[in-house]
Amino acid sequence: MRISFLGLGAIGTPMAVHVAARHDLTVWNRTGEKATRFAAVQGTRAAGTPREAVQGAEVVICCLSTSRDVESLLDGADGILAGLAKGVLFIDCTSGDPETSRRIAARLAPRGVDFVDAPVSGGVSGAESASLAVMVGGSAEAFGRARPVLECFGKRIEHIGPVGSGDALKAVNNALLAVNILASGEGLAALVKAGVPAAKALEIINASSGRSFVTESLVPARVLNGSWPRTFRLALLDKDVGIAVGLLEQTGVAGPMLRLAGDQFHAARQRLDAEADYMEAIRLIERDAGTEIRG
Ligand code: NDP
Repeated sequence: MRISFLGLGAIGTPMAVHVAARHDLTVWNRTGEKATRFAAVQGTRAAGTPREAVQGAEVVICCLSTSRDVESLLDGADGILAGLAKGVLFIDCTSGDPETSRRIAARLAPRGVDFVDAPVSGGVSGAESASLAVMVGGSAEAFGRARPVLECFGKRIEHIGPVGSGDALKAVNNALLAVNILASGEGLAALVKAGVPAAKALEIINASSGRSFVTESLVPARVLNGSWPRTFRLALLDKDVGIAVGLLEQTGVAGPMLRLAGDQFHAARQRLDAEADYMEAIRLIERDAGTEIRG
């Protein structure tokens, strides 16, 4: 199939590598050198504009920071709409917001272009091993068309409901992740200060009812060993929690827990640099508490 992939960021790049292995791929990235480098290494084409990227494509995949970024690429002489043919399937793997996704879908529909929101979960390592979970919003027919493409990098691929429902589920998932990060950081910092070694505390929590993906995987691999890798920008998790809080507002759910997590991540975003990793929220907890959670 002729596929275009727009957005070669931290997770978009390994996803595009898997698409390139199975399909005839053209890539585009705002910072053009990334696309040129990708094309040289993977043997694909690099387009100079979004219009050029989608010309002749049967499927277009986007993986940008926000839905608004995707929307901003639609218009103009070099925009996506200028190059899109009738019958194309548009798959947006951005962790987006439901409202903007519905707006994009409504603009594409009169042109005979099907849209699905298809945010992913599993991180950069999940993208590298083609084992991402994919939450798809769109018609059953569009999901049926998207599935074989999503299988390039996805393992658990689920149709959630109409356009926007994949985005909504992904945002709530990441809001729960944010709560777990903050709560784990706070609890462990207090335990260390109370004289309980962090490694021992984690070992017991992970055999008990307070365990989570954060305590089982993320804290041991990133905090205990002090490695703090940068794979998922904190600013993006802040964006996701903000989308979840928006969902609470739209549905009339009070949600003080998720709102507090949103406020905390928003404040963390202001205190850290733009490239800071999401787990560095725990670094701020350590700094404020005057301690370190290390093995
Ligand atoms: P990055 O910050 O690494 O990359 C963002 C990408 O979007 C880059 O290609 C960037 O281009 C492009 N971009 C941003 N704004 C615009 C714009 N206005 N116009 C055109 N292109 C733009 O993000 P990730 O790859 O980590 O994340 C991409 C999406 O996937 C996000 O929605 C994120 O929440 C989600 N996600 C990320 C995960 C991860 O572990 N990293 C896990 C699961 C989901 P440029 O190179 O020019 O900056």
